[in-house]
Amino acid sequence: MSQAQSTTQGVSKETIFQRADNAELYAGALIPGYSCGATFETQNPYNGQCIGQVEDGNANTVNKAVEAARETFEAGTWADLAPSERKEILLRWHALLVAHTEELAALDCIDGGKPISECLETDLPETLETIAWYAEASDKLFGRIAPTGKDALALIEKEAAGVVGAVLPWNFPALMYAWKVAPALAVGNSVVVKPAEQTSLSAYKMTQLAHQAGVPEGALCLVTGMGESTGQPLGLHADVDVVSFTGSTDVGRLFLQYSAQSNLKNIVLECGGKSPQVIFDDAYDLDTIVDDVLSAAFWNMGENCSCGSRLLVHSSRKTELLTLLKARLPEWVMGDPKDPATKIGPMIEAVHFNKVSGYLATAKAEGAELVYGGSTPSMGAGLFVEPTIFDGVNADMSLFKEEVFGPILAVTAFETEEEALRLANQSDYGLAASIYTADIRRANRAAKAIRAGNVSINCFSEGSIATPFGGYKQSGFGGRDNGLEAFDQYLETKTLWYAN
Ligand code: NAD
Repeated sequence: MSQAQSTTQGVSKETIFQRADNAELYAGALIPGYSCGATFETQNPYNGQCIGQVEDGNANTVNKAVEAARETFEAGTWADLAPSERKEILLRWHALLVAHTEELAALDCIDGGKPISECLETDLPETLETIAWYAEASDKLFGRIAPTGKDALALIEKEAAGVVGAVLPWNFPALMYAWKVAPALAVGNSVVVKPAEQTSLSAYKMTQLAHQAGVPEGALCLVTGMGESTGQPLGLHADVDVVSFTGSTDVGRLFLQYSAQSNLKNIVLECGGKSPQVIFDDAYDLDTIVDDVLSAAFWNMGENCSCGSRLLVHSSRKTELLTLLKARLPEWVMGDPKDPATKIGPMIEAVHFNKVSGYLATAKAEGAELVYGGSTPSMGAGLFVEPTIFDGVNADMSLFKEEVFGPILAVTAFETEEEALRLANQSDYGLAASIYTADIRRANRAAKAIRAGNVSINCFSEGSIATPFGGYKQSGFGGRDNGLEAFDQYLETKTLWYAN
């Protein structure tokens, strides 16, 4: 292997874990001509140890990034490339990311407390697929011709929106980066990406690799730092055309305010959820669906926007289902995320642990019945919440209404289809839902009745990169991630009218 080739290979997960032990990891701004400033420590959520430094960006950092992004957009060094040329560069980026899969998986594991097996088997494969999918789609987008009659010719074109701010959450760091950055770059925008302050390490590496692949540095700038000191200036910046945000509904609302207070930039929000899993009395053999039900509730420690955190089950099947869930839950092993056997890691940080564990007490105080789990084992830095099930949760309880973002499942029994659908829709959120029934007509009725962006039938699924993802009600605003629909976030529509 040549020297040039060897520099494009990622390091092993053991090397990343060793660097973390030595507190040598780093993430900071990547902006042409900019030198990084002060840093804060980033921790391994499992043991609380410092694993490295992250640059503590501020409004000045954001200004520099937006300036560089605008300059590059105007210069056309990325925006004006032929789509096939952009595709080639993005595919080179994809190849570099493939070579760094293990390194990126290890960074998300150590930074976010995410089980390494999940990072290697789910997060990174989906991240890579996303980059390749948008690279391949980028030169297959067509405009339209309007039906004007013979007196004119009208072309309806899509153009890159300009400078896009991408603001990311901490629960799927590499994957959320790919969901936003890949479609925005693919159609020629300049992007300023701001990862969550808790999980910036993989974003730093992915951005470096994009530059190595040939994406101009000004077309993809990285800014790290706190929400208020970097996310807010990005949201308020008068020269940003679009902000695409994934995170909590509360912060999402702020971005709508930032837009109103500045330049009316387009805002797209992918926010929280309180998704129902509806098990009808005629659901197929529960033994075959119990794993889907568990994954929906506990995958990624429940730190998942589409977490199926409300289990609505017909009263005739509840005992059988709870028995199966309880029998299978010991397989959800808690432990050090670096251990391949671990399925449940710690909560991301103490503030979040306090919020999630607070629901254990609240649920009991409000009258829910603890049927599994409920402990907060004192391993590592003590941020673990055991996978937990509460039965007897009614629609007035906090556990029914509020996004916990942790491994706590609320069980509510129902008697009729009408009641099930009413309960399913009794939420401020509308991101996802799962329906289990053997009756295709009932499945169809229920899928149409449930107000959610993603409804899966007889399984738990978020779809694939080919299908749009996003929510109704307070789960989302202004657009969708994934699928060809994601491009709409990052394109303006222009009419060209030619008189004959
Ligand atoms: P968060 O809202 O706290 O933070 C998200 C981002 O916003 C971070 O980069 C943060 O630094 C920034 N931010 C925080 N305060 C800000 C402020 N005042 N101004 C500007 N920016 C600010 O969300 P989180 O805790 O990182 O992520 C968890 C949330 O994300 C959950 O609610 C989850 O449901 C949601 N989520 C949604 C989807 C989806 O596709 N719908 C996917 C993943 C996560």
